[in-house]
Amino acid sequence: MGHEFVVIMRLAVCCLVLASAAVADEPRFVWPNGARAAVSLAYDDALDSQLDHAIPALNRHGLKGSFYLTLSSTTLAQRMPEWRVAAGQGHELGNHSLFHQCSRRPAGRDWVLPENDLDQTSVAQLVAQIRVGNTMLHAIDGRSERSYTMPCGDLDAGGKPYLGKLRQDFIAIKSGHGAVVADMRTLDPYAVPVWVPVAVSGAQLIDAAQRAAASGTMVNFTFHGIGGDHLSVSSAAHEQLLAHLAEHRDIYWTDTFLNIMKHVKREQMR
Ligand SMILES: [Zn+2]
Repeated sequence: MGHEFVVIMRLAVCCLVLASAAVADEPRFVWPNGARAAVSLAYDDALDSQLDHAIPALNRHGLKGSFYLTLSSTTLAQRMPEWRVAAGQGHELGNHSLFHQCSRRPAGRDWVLPENDLDQTSVAQLVAQIRVGNTMLHAIDGRSERSYTMPCGDLDAGGKPYLGKLRQDFIAIKSGHGAVVADMRTLDPYAVPVWVPVAVSGAQLIDAAQRAAASGTMVNFTFHGIGGDHLSVSSAAHEQLLAHLAEHRDIYWTDTFLNIMKHVKREQMR
């Protein structure tokens, strides 16, 4: 009986050692400089309020954002030098398609012009346009690595999925909903979820960042208007979030989505 007990205990210890060795073999996912979470501050649709309010606020705090430009937008045509300056300051210019095509079928999509109906655009047409978008962005900022955010969260062009055709063209793609990534090791860089905050308080924005820090992952904010324009968040709420991130740089690594996802892909390969 005593001998059997010793054997069982030895086996148990042996298994525990093997189990802990297996855990130790899996390298822990780490953020640069010991940060607990990564924060992506992104802004879609190329809006005046982003140039007027968001970028000056980011610059005041020394934080970098990602701006997903709708390349046919009047703001880009009329204020291109300012977007170029933003890129020179370290902000990311991302691809948000040429014409922001979305399906006109869901409720509340009356604003989508008939000529921009994604249901009437083929995968081949859309992919070709998005590649022209990358060429335009290269002409603006001289860079060749890009990320993409899909307009309206619509996955299909002409009724067929299109994102799979763009994997060679982008470092990463945002699609799907959710503020905080659940697990960095299993995150698909070509289906990164985002939260679109609208009319929220600074405390609500900070809460999302704190949840990311608690889970050791990342939070993806996709803003639109800041202190104006559509789907807007007030300048005060935006400012509160930025001040919180700037005060706690030891906790948050705030960088462009492109830089964060390059790090994520390297970590996933380890
Ligand atoms: Zn958009």
